Amino acid sequence: MGTDIQLSERLKNLRPSGVRKIFDLAAKIEDPINLSIGDVDFDIPEPIKKEGIKWIEKGFNKYTPSGGIPELREKILTYLRKKGILCEDVIVTPGVTGGLLLAFMVLLNPGDEVLIPDPYFVLYEYQIQLLGGRPVFFDTYPDFRIREEKIRSALSEKTRVILINSPNNPTGTVYPKEDLLTVVKVAKEKGIFIFSDDIYDAYVYDDEMERVYIGQFYENTLTFGGFSKTWGMSGWRLGYVAGPKDIINSMVTMQQYVFSGVSSFAQKAALVALDYDMSSFVDSYRRKRDIIYEGIKDKYKVVKPKGAFYIFPEVPGGDCDSFVERAMKEKLFVIPGSVFSRRRTHIRISFAQRDEILLRAVEILRKLA
Ligand code: PLP
Repeated sequence: MGTDIQLSERLKNLRPSGVRKIFDLAAKIEDPINLSIGDVDFDIPEPIKKEGIKWIEKGFNKYTPSGGIPELREKILTYLRKKGILCEDVIVTPGVTGGLLLAFMVLLNPGDEVLIPDPYFVLYEYQIQLLGGRPVFFDTYPDFRIREEKIRSALSEKTRVILINSPNNPTGTVYPKEDLLTVVKVAKEKGIFIFSDDIYDAYVYDDEMERVYIGQFYENTLTFGGFSKTWGMSGWRLGYVAGPKDIINSMVTMQQYVFSGVSSFAQKAALVALDYDMSSFVDSYRRKRDIIYEGIKDKYKVVKPKGAFYIFPEVPGGDCDSFVERAMKEKLFVIPGSVFSRRRTHIRISFAQRDEILLRAVEILRKLA
């Protein structure tokens, strides 16, 4: 049994996640300095957790409507509109992961292209390929800014979507308004959609920066957000997608067949989460950013992250794989930049870790430089 089983063609391009690979290696080591995964180091705040438990005990444990419970959809719309984001409707999805898949399913035909700034979050590439689409990357090195000529040179007749992730995984970049408006200008001119993955929107560290969202400027934007990063609810699998009514409606129909719906109690807890102020947690992440950035900036070529919880330095020698191997010998686990990029010159460090671990990591990083 097994060897002659024919698996689907779509598995051809699928490789196990490069992040998970390193994370699993770290799990086998005693006392690792694990800066591999992008999951916050705090638990779900108590009142949100209690709300989830309350609804489980009350028996709110059955299927919920495919688009999400109406009171949560309403509350998310209010939350986004307060930020000035244009959206007619919203769907609640199993994380941003689920939302992206549904969005690609309703908008992409085989051969359609999605433009993505490089470096990028690894999942985009695979989801697009699974649906027969083609991810097309445009370079943002060395400062991780978006340039109009780079977008234009990547455009084709088949471009359907430009996907922007700000604050960014893996670079920590928060694109300034100017860069977002460049994307909007090209998208409007060519009549293409924008996907805005705003999952890290709570994690912005530089107050002097004007907070802007791409969804404020262009109605043909799908805004993706979720509960995994802001409230530490990654295991409860809850996110949302907001945008034009017709597209959201199609995604609700698609969700009926793909996921059916999302977790019942988690949606009730999410109502409480949306009112729960996380600014003290974000402040602690600003401090973590400072520990790592200040700790390595004189030893590495590195852009100071303005958001999310990642930093993306260039490695000395310019070969991320050999650097990651050297780091592992010191029990330090980071991700090779090639997982997120066509280039192999950088590494991604997640600073979603306890301060004392970050301090140990700084010591090793300085030694390795
Ligand atoms: N988008 C980005 C940029 C991410 O970094 C992640 C998770 O790491 C996700 C989406 C997926 O998040 P979720 O837990 O909501 O599926």
